[in-house]
Amino acid sequence: SASIFGAIDMAPRDPILGITEAFNADTNPQKTNLGVGVYYDDEGKVPLLNCVRKAEEVLMEQRAPRTYLPIEGLASYDKAVQELVFGADSAVIQEKRAVTVQALGGTGALKIGADFLKRFAPDAQVFISDPSWENHRALFESAGFTVNNYTYYDPATHGVNFAGMTAALEAMPRGSIVVLHACCHNPTGADLTAAQWEQVIAIVVARGLVPFLDMAYQGFGSGIAEDGAVVRKFAATGVPLLVSNSFSKSFSLYGERVGALSVVAASHEEAARLLSQLKRIVRTNYSNPPTHGGKVVAAVLTTPELRQLWESELAQMRVRIKEMRDQFVERLKLKAPGRDFEFVRQQVGMFSYSGLTKEQVHRLRDEFSIYAVDTGRICVAALNSKNIERVIDAIAKVL
Ligand code: PLP
Repeated sequence: SASIFGAIDMAPRDPILGITEAFNADTNPQKTNLGVGVYYDDEGKVPLLNCVRKAEEVLMEQRAPRTYLPIEGLASYDKAVQELVFGADSAVIQEKRAVTVQALGGTGALKIGADFLKRFAPDAQVFISDPSWENHRALFESAGFTVNNYTYYDPATHGVNFAGMTAALEAMPRGSIVVLHACCHNPTGADLTAAQWEQVIAIVVARGLVPFLDMAYQGFGSGIAEDGAVVRKFAATGVPLLVSNSFSKSFSLYGERVGALSVVAASHEEAARLLSQLKRIVRTNYSNPPTHGGKVVAAVLTTPELRQLWESELAQMRVRIKEMRDQFVERLKLKAPGRDFEFVRQQVGMFSYSGLTKEQVHRLRDEFSIYAVDTGRICVAALNSKNIERVIDAIAKVL
């Protein structure tokens, strides 16, 4: 008799992982992968931060037993995350209106939030930016939602089409869930200004939309507090709010899967009910989160010397990316006079929508072993002092 597996189709390949596979198979010693979504240091390596190493040394010395964590995660971690995300002095923390659960990276946080929303707002539709991180759509669809795009990027200016965005927000049905990138928009690198955020917040509040802020790059834009400012502004409005955050990039802890979901309620009593439901979702998915990453991040965030070290190491990553943006612009000015790449300097975070066409991206790959995403997205954090000259020469040739 036929197996239940016999009729299963092959799932589509992940486009970004496909780039990495092709890159790995390339034998050109000068190959460069700008298709990635991770931060590399100037040596082209994923750093192990000193703050992480030091926290791990202490943990190893403790030789602690590996008991289960609570369903919502390590208490010291959840508290430290809340203070980082909302600010220790924020009303939502003082009034105990925010609940935070440790999650398996930012992705895990989004998934808990999506499952939670589907349970209690089953008829709402979800809106994500056009374009957005490619997993946003799949994740909310797999939770059972219809996912729509809202206007975001303007290829003509390489920035935000703000009039289009506000028009889209105004047209959303009440109660719609709107996923917003808190900072360092992936994939475009185009963020809203503070004044534009004020307008977005006003529309979200007036139209009764449910904001879901995704913050995967806190500290990669202008600074830890600066990048988190949007979350605090939303929290101050008193509307129901969800925030997913990730330490994959800001702690260079990709594989440890450390993130969190925070939900802001109207009262402490409401928050307790929400937490009980979030725990139910975690319990039926993976029971409770892993210990190591949460312990490391909690130790770093709450130990003053380690915290200071983290902030300076994060600042170094942020500054190095900015330097690469500057060099990208300056070098292209010389190699491709008449072409304006000034926008790359205005974009923030790890990525740039470079404006390179699919054909140009393919020429970079085929002629120079330089890999980027077909959309033209490049990871600025994969550029370094050794590869930038070759990359810029190649880009100038395919323009
Ligand atoms: N959200 C956005 C916008 C991202 O770019 C990413 C990672 O690339 C994530 C969430 C997921 O982060 P994590 O790797 O912690 O699951």
